[in-house]
Amino acid sequence: MKFHIHTYGCQMNVRDSEAVEALLVAAGHVKASGEADADLVIVNSCTVRQKAEEKAVGKAGNLIAAKKTVGLMGCAVKRMGADVFKRLPKLDFAVGPRAFGLIPRIVAEGRYPRLELGEDMVPECLAAHVEGGWQAFVTILLGCDNRCSYCIVPDVRGHEYSRPAREVVAEVGALARRGVKEVCLLGQSVLRYGVRNAAWDESDAPSPGGYKEAFPRLLEALAAIPGIERIRFTSAHPKGCTDELVRAYREFPQVCRHLHLPVQSGSDRVLAEMGRRYTREEYLAAVRKLRDFDPEFAVTTDVIVGYPGETEADFEETRSLMDEAGFDNSFVFKYSPRPGTRSAALPDDVPTEEKERRDQVLLADQERRGQSRNEALVGTVREVIAEGPSKRVADRWSGRDSGNRIVVWESSDAPCRAGEKVRVEILEAHPQVLVGRMAGK
Ligand code: SAH
Ligand code: SF4
Repeated sequence: MKFHIHTYGCQMNVRDSEAVEALLVAAGHVKASGEADADLVIVNSCTVRQKAEEKAVGKAGNLIAAKKTVGLMGCAVKRMGADVFKRLPKLDFAVGPRAFGLIPRIVAEGRYPRLELGEDMVPECLAAHVEGGWQAFVTILLGCDNRCSYCIVPDVRGHEYSRPAREVVAEVGALARRGVKEVCLLGQSVLRYGVRNAAWDESDAPSPGGYKEAFPRLLEALAAIPGIERIRFTSAHPKGCTDELVRAYREFPQVCRHLHLPVQSGSDRVLAEMGRRYTREEYLAAVRKLRDFDPEFAVTTDVIVGYPGETEADFEETRSLMDEAGFDNSFVFKYSPRPGTRSAALPDDVPTEEKERRDQVLLADQERRGQSRNEALVGTVREVIAEGPSKRVADRWSGRDSGNRIVVWESSDAPCRAGEKVRVEILEAHPQVLVGRMAGK
């Protein structure tokens, strides 16, 4: 069958879709050139906010109207359960986020409608990758046990589970042999790797470099794989910013100097209500630790505006924390109550217009902050992996530095290949982009 996968949501979903693509190709199906050309369309859904869920369900509805074989996978399926067929009576199949390995069998059997919410994941499914490319996502941690008050992720993605280190190392080794240079390790809270369940077989034995904590040990093992030039990971929690983590940043040049460290709020009162398990000061101490090690270290974040009871004073605390942390980039989300979460029981009392206003204020702050953070980099030479021609300006190429900053440069006199490492001298700063010229390969 010719298939197409339409993905909503986070990088975790992007990765799951890629695995499904690889599994379907292995089963003899063919990737279509687009939706119109496909017999089977799968929508991978998100449910972290209500709007995200509506988009995915709406998309599946439109596809059903176009009389395709339509499957829905991902987080919204797990949240709705059997109700998904009330919303979409003609949907062919629905598969939860930890059951996508069943999709090839479901399609082969063709007995519709079918619902699979299961929690079991076959290891081979997690390791399935599409051929080609120099970048790959690798899932190291499934689920989440943190239960932040607002968050539906633990309900839909299940309990936290660290994949065995030997599986992750084997997967990255196989990717490296196929030409992958950059891996991004994925999990809701990757620094909790090996905390809930042991990831290393002989967890007491010290690693070659004397690392004791499971995640820095994993970085050490992955940095030893020939061909792996960059290791990224996301998301992180400040409790995981340990001395060993900083030592791994220092010792392994492959480990990129960027951490996505969602803060959610700068108000201690709101942080406590959210159940984030850190204070403003503890969070800022984690950021300081990273910047003491390297002042150019890039820290990015997620923030929620309009959490129940968030006052103007709480919001101002968030603004000032963001300035103190000097975030290189930030993603702002307007609070959306999710069924079954603790905060859904509280009145959603910040009016929509006020959430919108706070969102805009934080975006404007970030523009200024991004500009001044980036201006400090003018005159430096960044080591960049070239990604491809810039989307906006012809004759320019675009790539990213170790801090995940987008770097753009003139390419007419020095052609590049995707995946090639180049050195770019920065001439101009923008809030989200650095512009420069090639200073060598
Ligand atoms: N595991 C990650 C976050 C996963 S969800 C972490 O805790 O670091 C991605 C982001 O969506 C969160 O960081 C949060 O900012 C946002 N988010 C989660 N639930 C939300 C809700 N109910 N309303 C608005 N934003 C939400
Ligand atoms: Fe959600 Fe908190 Fe888990 Fe992140 S850590 S997925 S915000 S419950």
